[in-house]
Amino acid sequence: MTAITKSPRTTKPRAAPAAKVRRAGKPKIPKVGFVSLGCPKALVDSERIITRLRSEGYQIAADYDGVDVVVVNTCGFLNSAKEESLSAIGEAMAANGRVIVTGCLGVEEARILAEHPGVLAVTGPHQYEQVMEAVHQAVPPLHDPFIDLVPAEGFRLTPRHYAYLKISEGCNNACSFCIIPDLRGKLASRPANHVMTEAEKLVQAGVKELLVISQDTSAYGLDIKYATSPWKGAPLAARFLDLTTALGHLGAWVRLHYVYPYPHVDDIIPLMADGKILPYLDIPFQHASPRVLKAMRRPGNQDKTAARIAKWRKICPDLALRSTFIVGFPGETEEDFQMLLDWLQEARLNRVGCFKYEPVEGAKANDLAGAVPEDVKEERWHRFMAAQQEISRDILGTRIGRTIDVIIDEVDEEGALGRSKWDAPEIDGSVFLNGATELVAGQIVQAKIVHADEYDLWGEVA
Ligand code: SF4
Repeated sequence: MTAITKSPRTTKPRAAPAAKVRRAGKPKIPKVGFVSLGCPKALVDSERIITRLRSEGYQIAADYDGVDVVVVNTCGFLNSAKEESLSAIGEAMAANGRVIVTGCLGVEEARILAEHPGVLAVTGPHQYEQVMEAVHQAVPPLHDPFIDLVPAEGFRLTPRHYAYLKISEGCNNACSFCIIPDLRGKLASRPANHVMTEAEKLVQAGVKELLVISQDTSAYGLDIKYATSPWKGAPLAARFLDLTTALGHLGAWVRLHYVYPYPHVDDIIPLMADGKILPYLDIPFQHASPRVLKAMRRPGNQDKTAARIAKWRKICPDLALRSTFIVGFPGETEEDFQMLLDWLQEARLNRVGCFKYEPVEGAKANDLAGAVPEDVKEERWHRFMAAQQEISRDILGTRIGRTIDVIIDEVDEEGALGRSKWDAPEIDGSVFLNGATELVAGQIVQAKIVHADEYDLWGEVA
C-alpha cells in the first residue's frame, strides 16, 4: 500500500506503512486515498495523519479506485505550488468526488471552495485532529470488538442512557471565590465538529440525554474566535447558539449546564420553545445583592436578570431554571441576604442549590473583610432553603394533572424512577412511577402527574 505523494520539487512517491492483516469474513475495511504534496514538513504531517488512519484500521490506497475518500495534503508556498495543489484537488474530485483538503493551501479555504465547491472539508497545516474528524465523517472507522478495547463512543461512568458532553476547559472569568482559572487555565474550547462527532457517537451508542458541561458553557468558542469546522458537509461555527442548534438535531435530549448569563443566552430560548433542546437552563447566579456580586466579581444587575427571566418565560413558558447560590459571603449583611430572598421570590427558580461560603485556599475572596460568623451562615442557609422549598412546592403543584415525558433512570420490583425534562440527573428531583415494573432504563414514556411534594413528582404511565 502506498500513498500518492507528489511534490512541486520532487514527484518521487514515498511508501506508506504496511497494511494491517484482517481476518476473513469481516466487514469491508474503509479505504483512504492519500495525496501528499509539498515540503518535508508537509510530508511529516502526511505521515502523522496516515499513522493515525492506520492505527484506526483504515487502509491507505495508492490510487483513487475504490477508495471511500481522498485526502489531499496541499502545498501553498509558491504560486506554482498552489496551482499544482489546486490541480491535484481537481484530479481527485474528477476521479473520486469525495475529497478532504488539508495542508498549507488549506488557509485559503475560500479559494479552494470557489474552484472546487464539492470538497468535503478544508483544514490547515498541522490540523491532524480536524483531518481525522473529517475522515470519520466521510467514512467512519470500523469498530472491531476483537481488537479494539475501547467502544466507539469511549468509556463512560454514567448509565448507558445519559452522558456528559464537555465542550471546553478552563475559564476566562475571575470570580473571587474560585480558583478554577488558576487550576485549569483560560478557556479552551473544542472545535465544534469534535464535540458533534462525540455527541453523535454517544447517541448512536444509545445515549438518550446529552448533558452539556464546561466551566462556562455560554462562553464557548470565544477563545478560538468562533472558528468553523466542517460538519455534515457544511462549516459549523464554535458558537454557543450554533453548537446548541446542531446538538438539537441529533434526536437526543440536550440539557445545558453552567451557563453564565451573557446577553446572547437569550438567543437559545426559542430553541427550547420549539422543543429542539430541553427547556432547562442551569445558571449559577450565586447571589442577588449588587454589593455581594461585585465582591464576588460576578455580573451584578439582578433587576435586569429578573426581567430577562420573565422575558424567557414568555417565550418558553415551560422553561425550568436551576441555580446555585452562596450565603455568608464575606461582607454579606442582613440587608444583602434579604435582597437575595426577595429576588428568589421574584425569579421563582425551579431548582436551587445553596452553599455556605467556605474560603478556598488561594482564592482572592480570602482577603475580603467582613467574615460572616458560622452561626449566621447556618441560619441564613436554613432561611434560604425554607423559602425555596415553598417556591418549589408551588411550582411542582402546578404539574399535577399534566401528562409529561419521563426518562426512566432505574426500575426495581416496586416501580420505575425517572425524571422530567425539568430535572437533571443527580442534582434535581425525580418522577416516581409506582408499579411500572415493565419499563426499562433509558425509555422515555408519557406519564400523568398525580402528586407532588417540594422535590419530586409521582405519576402514572399514560
Ligand atoms: S466560578 Fe465559574 S465562572 Fe467564576 S471563575 Fe470559577 S469557573 Fe469561572
